[in-house]
Amino acid sequence: MSKRILVLPGDGIGPEIVNEAVKVLDVLAGEFGLDIEMDEGLIGGAGYDGAGHPYPEATREMAREADAILLGAVGGPKYDSLDRPLRPERGLLGIRSDLGLFANLRPAMLYPQLAQASSLKPELVAGLDILIVRELTGGIYFGQPRGQNVLENGERQGFNTMVYTESEIERIGRVAFEAAMKRSKRVCSVDKANVLEVSELWREVMERVAKDYPQVELSHMYVDNAAMQLVRAPKQFDVMVTENMFGDILSDAAAMLTGSIGMLPSASLNEKGAGMYEPIHGSAPDIAGQGIANPIATILSVAMMLRHSLDRVDLAERIEQAVGKVLDDGLRTGDIMSEGCTRVGTEGMGDAIVAALRAQAS
Ligand code: NAD
Repeated sequence: MSKRILVLPGDGIGPEIVNEAVKVLDVLAGEFGLDIEMDEGLIGGAGYDGAGHPYPEATREMAREADAILLGAVGGPKYDSLDRPLRPERGLLGIRSDLGLFANLRPAMLYPQLAQASSLKPELVAGLDILIVRELTGGIYFGQPRGQNVLENGERQGFNTMVYTESEIERIGRVAFEAAMKRSKRVCSVDKANVLEVSELWREVMERVAKDYPQVELSHMYVDNAAMQLVRAPKQFDVMVTENMFGDILSDAAAMLTGSIGMLPSASLNEKGAGMYEPIHGSAPDIAGQGIANPIATILSVAMMLRHSLDRVDLAERIEQAVGKVLDDGLRTGDIMSEGCTRVGTEGMGDAIVAALRAQAS
């Protein structure tokens, strides 16, 4: 049976980069037997412009029916003065919580051809391949109580609550262990168990989950040390699993190790295996409409979709090989440009990846 894919281009460079990723999906459907049907919907500022809401009802209905969603990016200065509930980012939060996308997978992988682009020395990052599994719908970003109040002495106080249930920890733990089973079978769970009770529980539950995966080696690390180790010796990590806020911070640090934000995909999954796939970068209003954005993060998001929601690891690998081939050939968008390489635009990069895929078929 065909799988339904909902395509949500969004704002800024979103439509430009998604267009290239759709070309890749078209080739996989036309020439590699991928059985899909694609719908397109509005989200973010485009949702507000077209339907008066950043997560319009029509999009909500299609999202609930979809096996996988491909999203470009949302946001832009044009929408900054809207009331908060109508801002583009609310569309993103809306779809994440509506679909229960609790597991955020962010690989930080460095293509050897781009080792010079990293902020670390090439020998520290060459071959880097980390997967950060971040819990996305719990923890301090959602915990109650939260707010601000005024103390008896008149001073104001702000507070948030970091809270996790055992089942929330267990389900993100299982995602991490399952992912590790397909990689080099190591999970590092990151917490702050020396200070936080919620982290003590986190650690206990991770230990319990680990018993079901005897082939996987589990280690624990405090978040402050993990931040240090990521910039000292990042290649020691395979899969890192952590709670929402720690994951937010660590995954951005890990992303920078790989040089360009235009290269990194992400997946957000729910319990049924449906997922939303998107580049980690935003809508880049500064370069929107110029045809120069790097579409590789979005194209690699399609590879993640094939791996995690469409059960076609073979095709995911083909995309990754095609991207490698194009980089080997020296093609670069502006964000990853270096001496001796050939500069191409968004379309040029997409077309080259499509051609590399086609060459695999012949
Ligand atoms: P950004 O990621 O959009 O851009 C940061 C810098 O990276 C810019 O200089 C941009 O030109 C560059 N860049 C980003 N993607 C690129 C690509 N594919 N190719 C080449 N260069 C690229 O972050 P920002 O400027 O802080 O935010 C811009 C807008 O995007 C804001 O409205 C923000 O709220 C939104 N945003 C959306 C998401 C999302 O949709 N998931 C994530 C982050 C930010």
